[in-house]
Amino acid sequence: MRVNETFLSLQGEGYFTGTPAFFLRLSGCNLQCPFCDTNHQSFSEMSEEEIVTEASRHKPRHIIITGGEPALQLTQSLVDKLHEAGFFVQVETNGTLPLPEGIDWVTCSPKGLTPSLSKGEGVQTINELKVLYKGIGDDPERFISPLRGEGMGLRLCLQPLDTGNAERNRIILRDTIAYIMEHPHWSLSLQTHKLLGIK
Ligand code: SF4
Repeated sequence: MRVNETFLSLQGEGYFTGTPAFFLRLSGCNLQCPFCDTNHQSFSEMSEEEIVTEASRHKPRHIIITGGEPALQLTQSLVDKLHEAGFFVQVETNGTLPLPEGIDWVTCSPKGLTPSLSKGEGVQTINELKVLYKGIGDDPERFISPLRGEGMGLRLCLQPLDTGNAERNRIILRDTIAYIMEHPHWSLSLQTHKLLGIK
């Protein structure tokens, strides 16, 4: 597998914020978002066994598989091996591609209403929908209906977009909170790892 990086940290965003976890960042993505901060070209080859061994060297038994887009590489056998080793497997995906079965927690962060999302052809099971909010006029509701399956319990997280500009970020945060107050099915998600100065 093409692995961009592995590291131990706290989950910074969403439902599991503050949870100690081993991060596996797989290389490569099928989208090209202008604000993407991941270098998709850099990677090392690791076998599934090497990944499980590396993850198991640490105490946390929560693994977060992210990217890039992990669905491009993630296999059923790696998910099964991680379960056998006692891991709770969380995957962060843009939602455009199907994932293996049995993942314990799927966080979908759509980066636009792509054709596959609109047609419901991407990921089938989602536990958490994390939408980046760009400010007044943005409409996060448009992501809910294509992604919410029949009977699916879905946690909805709204996260202010990090523009890289402190003053603009302050305004977007204010607007995000105001939006949530008017649409209380959403909860606020912050990039707490950035606030804490950790990876
Ligand atoms: S979906 Fe995520 S990883 Fe892929 S280009 Fe967009 S921001 Fe980057």
